[in-house]
Amino acid sequence: MEKLSVTVKKKLEILLIKDFSIDQIYAFSFWILPHLETFNPKYHDAELTRICQELKNRKPIQYIFGLAFFGDLQLYVNLHTLIPRPETEELCQFISVHFKDKDNIRGLDIGTGSGCIPIYLLSKHPHWKFEAMDINANILDVAESNARKYGLHNSIYFHELNVFTMTTLPNDIQLLVSNPPYVGREEMETLATDVLNYEPHSALFSPTPDSMLFYKKIAELVSNSAIKKLSIWLEINQYKGLETLALFEPIGETKLHFDMSGNTRFLHCEIARP
Ligand code: GLN
Repeated sequence: MEKLSVTVKKKLEILLIKDFSIDQIYAFSFWILPHLETFNPKYHDAELTRICQELKNRKPIQYIFGLAFFGDLQLYVNLHTLIPRPETEELCQFISVHFKDKDNIRGLDIGTGSGCIPIYLLSKHPHWKFEAMDINANILDVAESNARKYGLHNSIYFHELNVFTMTTLPNDIQLLVSNPPYVGREEMETLATDVLNYEPHSALFSPTPDSMLFYKKIAELVSNSAIKKLSIWLEINQYKGLETLALFEPIGETKLHFDMSGNTRFLHCEIARP
């Protein structure tokens, strides 16, 4: 094992040094070494060459291995789903702390992708229930297989549903969470090649040039609903904090929260109607 690790690290360095820093190569080796251990040594070189070629093509390592780390979870991902981000983990932590003593919460996740949000929250709060929706069966297959992996498939009800076709919210939810596509088309050039070339644009960019579209729809759904008490937690575009705040302030008690990089990344709106 020790010997394998030294040889593989050397080979990785030779194959990747023109394209990546030593730190990046070191990080890749944490994914590649355990993978090679499951392989017949006869095929190690071919497998290394294949993986390095994909890395050089800037394919994110999570897609190469079909795996992403999210909190304590190891989630399956593929090209239909975004790679869950550390910011989204922070969003889950905010929600978990907000409801820390409640064990009967029912949540709705709009645009669930890999299912990371409900799966994370249910792994901390096993008595909660979730409805999770996304726009097509390929995405929901990923989310469902992740829920099954953690034995949570009976706690999450998946719906193939486009938020723009919705006219009401379920009446029995206390939590509405969403990390919708919020990157503006004008920001496209600022995205890293691996994100832009591999991650699903339908999960990154709003379907129209208006990057606030999802937030407007969510605010409208909440305004029209008869729910008396609801916590809304959203991941938002860091440059659109005040605009998003303005959308929700008329509906409920609204606050922005910073992510660990100091960007306004989350919105919390608390609805309490008589
Ligand atoms: N935070 C993601 C990114 O920077 C975007 C996620 C989203 O649009 N919901 O690529």
